[in-house]
Amino acid sequence: MALIVHKYGGTSMGSTERIRNVAKRVAKWVRAGHQIVVVPSAMSGETNRLLGLAKELSDSPSPRELDMIASTGEQVSVGLLAIALQAEGLDAVSYAGWQVPVRTDSSFTKARIESIDDARVRADLNAGRVVIITGFQGVDPNGNITTLGRGGSDTSAVAIAAAMKADECLIYTDVDGVYTTDPRVVPEARRLKSVSFEEMLEMASLGSKVLQIRSVEFAGKYRVPLRVLSSFTPWDIDLAEEAKSGTLISFEEDEKMEQAVVSGIAFTRDEAKITVVGVPDTPGIAYQILGKVADANIDVDVIIQNVSHDGKTDFSFTVPRGDHTRAMEILKTQVVPALGAREVVGDAKIAKVSIVGIASTMFKTLSDEGINIQMITTSEIKTSVVIDEKYLELAVRALHKAFGLDEAKA
Ligand code: ADP
Ligand code: ASP
Ligand code: MG
Repeated sequence: MALIVHKYGGTSMGSTERIRNVAKRVAKWVRAGHQIVVVPSAMSGETNRLLGLAKELSDSPSPRELDMIASTGEQVSVGLLAIALQAEGLDAVSYAGWQVPVRTDSSFTKARIESIDDARVRADLNAGRVVIITGFQGVDPNGNITTLGRGGSDTSAVAIAAAMKADECLIYTDVDGVYTTDPRVVPEARRLKSVSFEEMLEMASLGSKVLQIRSVEFAGKYRVPLRVLSSFTPWDIDLAEEAKSGTLISFEEDEKMEQAVVSGIAFTRDEAKITVVGVPDTPGIAYQILGKVADANIDVDVIIQNVSHDGKTDFSFTVPRGDHTRAMEILKTQVVPALGAREVVGDAKIAKVSIVGIASTMFKTLSDEGINIQMITTSEIKTSVVIDEKYLELAVRALHKAFGLDEAKA
């Protein structure tokens, strides 16, 4: 008997029919003698729909209230899954984050998990129940509901697996594992049988959304055995076969592991660019601009400051797309007048593409495709560029090929 955490993403929970399939799959694991905790996401599209309602009422809705609203998607999912499992003849109980409780800090919309009390869940498991816990949400020290950031159900699942010292955490999703890049964008992408923890961390940090980065951080810190696999195989496939399918996130240095994978090509459409134009080029401007943005709890990613002409410069940076309007507002009302800058311009139609590999190959590939690079950032191992969103797919396909990642054709 093993204790296993199953996580099912939005598409896997996308209809009552799919939820029934999830229940049948979970029932198979329970009947094989395992204790199962299930962490589902909201039904696909639901979190966007809920957040959209809030945005209809305000351009800058209160983050606390956004969490109140967004967290309900997962609450519907856990209740439906409990009912589906009961219909399969299993004893099942659902909990919201605060009922476990999953304790977080108070950073609404991007809260961090601080601790998880496993007593209640363990008692249920020992009484023979399947326990279903909402992904994506927790409760802060003042009893407010919080959410963990988009894609946060992965983190809920891994954190629960860590807290319960589960034998494994299985992330069931709508692709059958981790690929060299998003297989929906590059059909030639290759599935990796295993990927080292460091590579997975790198891919997640560069924006590959197959796993939320914090879930990978948790897995690393607490050494949670983690596997990404498909929820779209027939639910009744052989359990031993299913248990070995997908991609294992490995902590071992195993010579069988795929060698020298450029950790793949990662991209994100989740950022927006802001340029403060005509800033007097004096000491402290970076602090005066970015300090205000940081005070508003907005993360800044790529930053460039141009050389100055006539004592003025332009200062550009990217922020999460969801924070774009708010950041623009802060800059317009507080920073531009204070600095005597000319104006602030924004562009939400950008994408960031990243590689772990030789930067000049990347630049040549993009140049050959006629794709203009708007911003560049590099570290020892990776290079990211900001480009117009409309060239994203072209760029990713060309880079995947240029770095020799395409599936070898027989
Ligand atoms: P879920 O709802 O199950 O959490 P997500 O949509 O968050 O699913 O993540 C799965 C998606 O991640 C896939 O459908 C795929 O389009 C995308 N993806 C991006 N990069 C990769 C990658 N390197 N390997 C596999 N999938 C990837
Ligand atoms: N439902 C949340 C989202 O859409 C969390 C998740 O699916 O992981 O971001
Ligand atoms: Mg996800």
